[in-house]
Amino acid sequence: MRVIDIINANKAKDRPTVSFEVFPPKTTVNFDNVMKATGEIAKLQPDFMSVTYGAGGGTSDFTVSVAENIKNCGVTPLVHLTCVSSTQADVARQIEKIKNSGMENILALRGDIPDGSPFPENAQFKYASQLIREIKKHGDFCIGGACYPEKHPEAPTFADDIRHIKEKVDAGCDFLTTQMFFDNNILYNYLYKIREAGITIPVVAGIMPVTNAKQTERICKISGNFLPQRFKLITDKFGSCPDSMKQAGIAYATEQIIDLLANGVSCIHIYCMNSPDVARKIKENLSYII
Ligand code: FAD
Repeated sequence: MRVIDIINANKAKDRPTVSFEVFPPKTTVNFDNVMKATGEIAKLQPDFMSVTYGAGGGTSDFTVSVAENIKNCGVTPLVHLTCVSSTQADVARQIEKIKNSGMENILALRGDIPDGSPFPENAQFKYASQLIREIKKHGDFCIGGACYPEKHPEAPTFADDIRHIKEKVDAGCDFLTTQMFFDNNILYNYLYKIREAGITIPVVAGIMPVTNAKQTERICKISGNFLPQRFKLITDKFGSCPDSMKQAGIAYATEQIIDLLANGVSCIHIYCMNSPDVARKIKENLSYII
């Protein structure tokens, strides 16, 4: 099923849309473990599950296999696709692979420029909006794009970044998924700004349950996220005890989700880092809500 149809059908019934994000194995060594974990997460019957593609601008041979497994478990897959380090022929091959597997949802991304590298001026795809236009040539896909409530780190200003998000929408993006954020007010302000800019498509709020303190450092380095004092106190207090940190991180994410739903944000995407346990606990915490 198309993700946008799922979102609209849930909205019509005043029901939230809840999805989980998983990532493929880097090598065959971890393949079985990832398949098992993603299969277990699929058993929780989220509205859809997204599967990332490579990292640092790289590609991934296993994204489609993991997505096929999710589909076989009866859950709609959303396949991520990046473009900055690919040629038009590479991208075309990957889109055809997705189409031939009977999948109709793609999250179209530029991908990160590897640390320290200059912007690849000769790249065939420089921006996700170009990828969206390319995907459209290959068929009637439902296409998602990324957005950044704290601004994409490379964008000179918020206004520039929002103008570029609008370009993705104009290119045919059906919905947006946000980068993670730890203070809901950041999202509420962002939604106000993008709606003012004429962006009216659904926005899926990305929530990361932080279950170990190291993760926090990495996230902040990559995304430059603002960490509220309340969040910092939790990681300072519980960061050295893995079980406590996991419980506190899941509770924090749960509270964020409840606040979002109460404020009318009805699409929630949970970055569950391939952990069936984290996905299950969040669902249990919200069993009368989602
Ligand atoms: P774009 O929309 O192309 O934007 C990138 C930058 O270029 C922004 O600063 C934007 O303002 C600017 N820009 C856009 N258009 C123009 C223009 N016409 N002129 C000038 N500047 C412009 N990475 C992976 O490698 N694999 C994944 O699976 C993956 N999944 C992700 C999922 C989500 C929900 C999110 C939020 C991010 C994900 N990423 C993933 C990371 C993403 O690839 C990076 O954040 C990347 O740096 C930007 O990708 P984008 O699609 O937002 O790029």
